[in-house]
Amino acid sequence: MSDTASNIILLKQHLPSSVKLVAVSKTKSVSDILEVYNTGHRIFGENRVQEILSKKELLPLDIEWHLIGHLQSNKVKYIVPFISMIHSVDSFKLLRIIDAEALKNGRKVDCLLQFHIAKEETKFGFSPEEVTVMMESEEFRHFESVRLCGVMGMATFTDNEEQVRDEFRFLTECFKNLKTTYFSGDPDFTEISMGMSGDYKIAVEEGSTIIRIGSLIFGERL
Ligand SMILES: *Cc1c(COP(=O)(O)O)cnc(C)c1O
Repeated sequence: MSDTASNIILLKQHLPSSVKLVAVSKTKSVSDILEVYNTGHRIFGENRVQEILSKKELLPLDIEWHLIGHLQSNKVKYIVPFISMIHSVDSFKLLRIIDAEALKNGRKVDCLLQFHIAKEETKFGFSPEEVTVMMESEEFRHFESVRLCGVMGMATFTDNEEQVRDEFRFLTECFKNLKTTYFSGDPDFTEISMGMSGDYKIAVEEGSTIIRIGSLIFGERL
């Protein structure tokens, strides 16, 4: 068995069964992805639209593709026809465009609201205040083709575990507040996407329901 295959099998053995795994295959080859696919895994994450489109052509149709990176408005139309989940909805404007494209395609698109939880300036995402403004708006109530399934966030890239834990805790708080205030009767609003190779154990302890793992499965990216 290849290293890649044994990496994912081992990782899954140690995950609680309630936690979903997105295998993050960005920069990795189609044959690397097939090695993971052949273990039975079906959920793959990419952060660039062009990369998903070109890999998808060469891979089995039953792969569930998740977009985990920043999405530009003008690229929404290319992924809406097939994407299984967009983790990186980081503005009201983007959600509006996804809703319009999904309507045209006659499908509902599963989305997570990305919160800015890291101290770093560079990461994308909503603040809780911005999400509240969106939730309270008249326009939001008329969206019909996006299905909000929860939240996503990326912690600061640091060795300081307490800081990472605090940031994940904050995201779980944001999720719970949204759930009670706006989604208490909504069976689809269930997901907290947090945790990568370096911090997924802390994320799972803090309530993650979806982890996004690249290098622990595929090896370091060059
Ligand atoms: C690259 C990436 C990951 C996976 O990172 P690893 O450290 O390789 O596990 C997870 N989430 C997002 C948003 C990413 O861009």
